[in-house]
Amino acid sequence: MSSQRSVEAVIAPPPPHMVGDGFRVHNFFPGTKQIGKTRMSPFFMLDYGSKIDFSPKDEPRGVGVHPHAGFETVTIAYHGKVAHHDSAGNSGIIGEGDVQWMTAGLGLLHKEYHEEEFSKKGGPFQMVQLWVNLPAKDKKTKPKYQEITNSKMGRYNLPGEKGFVEVIAGEYNGVKGPATTFTPIHAYNARLKKDAKLDLSFPKEYNTGLLVIEGNVKVNGINVHADHFVLLKNDGEDLSIETTEDSIILILSGEPINEPIVAYGPFVMNTWEEIEKAIDDVNAGKFGVLAD
Ligand code: MN
Repeated sequence: MSSQRSVEAVIAPPPPHMVGDGFRVHNFFPGTKQIGKTRMSPFFMLDYGSKIDFSPKDEPRGVGVHPHAGFETVTIAYHGKVAHHDSAGNSGIIGEGDVQWMTAGLGLLHKEYHEEEFSKKGGPFQMVQLWVNLPAKDKKTKPKYQEITNSKMGRYNLPGEKGFVEVIAGEYNGVKGPATTFTPIHAYNARLKKDAKLDLSFPKEYNTGLLVIEGNVKVNGINVHADHFVLLKNDGEDLSIETTEDSIILILSGEPINEPIVAYGPFVMNTWEEIEKAIDDVNAGKFGVLAD
């Protein structure tokens, strides 16, 4: 028998910090005491760039060349566009409503910045960067990208034209998302009209949370404003979201990876030896070369 999953915490956006000069983000985890490094496993980090206006600039703002290894970065653009280049020669643009699912795996160098035309025009910018941990057996997987443009996402339409659920990964009501993942994950953007009701159900042991990107919702009856993160308890399967305004909600649920985590800067590993190895590999040029 399924049962209601209760709210563990509603977390206000922590004070923002800059990542490079292009990303002003609120770190909901691992930096908050309510969540830390493991409470949302397999999700390790959530940086949220709440909506701000950037002034026009010819030279795009962003973050310069840096490595990643041992996990996946998932970039979700809500307003504005993000461009990237990496040491394997890949590059691309993440447009509004699109997602890039990058598997860093054994390691790469990349840089991320505002897309050139967006930078020249300026305007509202809002995005999420999520780090999804990899299980030990897959940490050395080859780097890869999944460009999940909005049209590739699964779409579940609510009855009565109350909006829809974009399925990025996993499955909602029989509608599957295109992302392939190393461990079981559900990731959705719910784009709902005012007075919509969305019912969700995830296995009890799956760590589950949601971020209100726009609007205002009630989660199991508890009022939640935009830019707040809701952490759900693992005490049941079901939850319901009701909107009191037109709303966008990022919904995340995944099977925890119950392995030790040692994280240092842009590396998420199982042991300190692996962190030291990754640093040595970067210094030895094994992550490739990328110009500024
Ligand atoms: Mn990065």
